[in-house]
Amino acid sequence: MEKIIYLDNAATTRTAPEVVEAMLPYFSELYGNPSSIYDFAGKSKEGVAHARQQIADVLGCGKENIYFTAGGSEADNWALKATFEAYKSKGNHIITTKIEHHAILHTCEYLEKERGAKITYLDVDENGIVRLEDLERAITPETILISVMFANNEIGSIQPIREIGMIAREHGILFHTDAVQAFGQVPINVDEYGIDMLSSSGHKINGPKGIGFLYIRKGVKIRSFVHGGAQERKRRAGTENVPGIVGYGAAAERAAATMEKRAAKEIELRDYLIHRITTEIPYVKLNGHPEKRLPNNVNVSFRFVEGESLLLMLDSFGICGSSGSACTSGSLDPSHVLMAIGLPHEIAHGSLRLTLSEETTKEELDYTVDKLKDIVEKLRKMSPLYEDFIKKMK
Ligand SMILES: *Cc1c(COP(=O)(O)O)cnc(C)c1O
Repeated sequence: MEKIIYLDNAATTRTAPEVVEAMLPYFSELYGNPSSIYDFAGKSKEGVAHARQQIADVLGCGKENIYFTAGGSEADNWALKATFEAYKSKGNHIITTKIEHHAILHTCEYLEKERGAKITYLDVDENGIVRLEDLERAITPETILISVMFANNEIGSIQPIREIGMIAREHGILFHTDAVQAFGQVPINVDEYGIDMLSSSGHKINGPKGIGFLYIRKGVKIRSFVHGGAQERKRRAGTENVPGIVGYGAAAERAAATMEKRAAKEIELRDYLIHRITTEIPYVKLNGHPEKRLPNNVNVSFRFVEGESLLLMLDSFGICGSSGSACTSGSLDPSHVLMAIGLPHEIAHGSLRLTLSEETTKEELDYTVDKLKDIVEKLRKMSPLYEDFIKKMK
């Protein structure tokens, strides 16, 4: 394959070589079912237990609070649907935000339409941050759950999670956070932050795809999501994805161990990229909070440019980016996140998300900006709106 410049790490990441290494024996010689009683299967069981401990250590919780799922989407679905079922005698109101991942938003829509839930979708400010006054105001005696994402997958904004956790606790309401973009990227301690449930996914932190977990605090009444065998303390049936779980554990430990250094490097490159784009290309705007953002996230809007065309042209130079979230690409609706921060349609349509990794180099970013400058200029030359705009300026 030709060399590519991969700047779409919010969509997925490379499985780290040491993670693959850790997984391999569990595909080949250690294939026993962790539920079997002979000694041979014990090795698989140990692999799963070790991974659960590795993950629990990153969150500062007990390993009995970690429940493996088939990814971030399942963890989000589980948290919302099962909490709603278990607590509906107490109330039917859930508070979330307008900028959640579709795994949350579409689950909320389902609960609203099919199950009688009332959902409040909180607005965010122009930087994509929830206002705590809005949250407090939305709470009613019927509120059973607050679900606010830790960090946004499109614009990288990091929410005031500790404060939200305190508000939830004061009101005796459960607090769930979709931390798929944050786990392993920024420090998280579930007790300090007052988090009752937390979703995460392996493939966003250099682990394998199709594996995730839901952290569930002891005492949270939550129903089983998949019925069947007694795996995951009878809360999520199905033979464990042993290689996936082992890889996830290795990825989590690795992410935590390298977090500080990686974040420092990524922040430096991120700010360099933002600086070059916003100073060298006219009519461009940075989306998301300038500081309270993920170390690897850049999201910018170019006026008079169509995001999809931009992506295709970048692709022709081997540069992989995204025009919003992978799920919205392919449809013509502008991203719900960019709408929520108040961007007009035509500006939201000209948006580009570039998400770095620890492997990203300055040379790659220089190459990307150089191409981007040419491409934006070319696309604007073809835009009648831009032509009108320039005429009016003169
Ligand atoms: C990727 C992502 C998900 C979905 O995780 P999968 O493991 O791909 O199902 C959920 N929430 C956020 C914020 C994400 O970025």
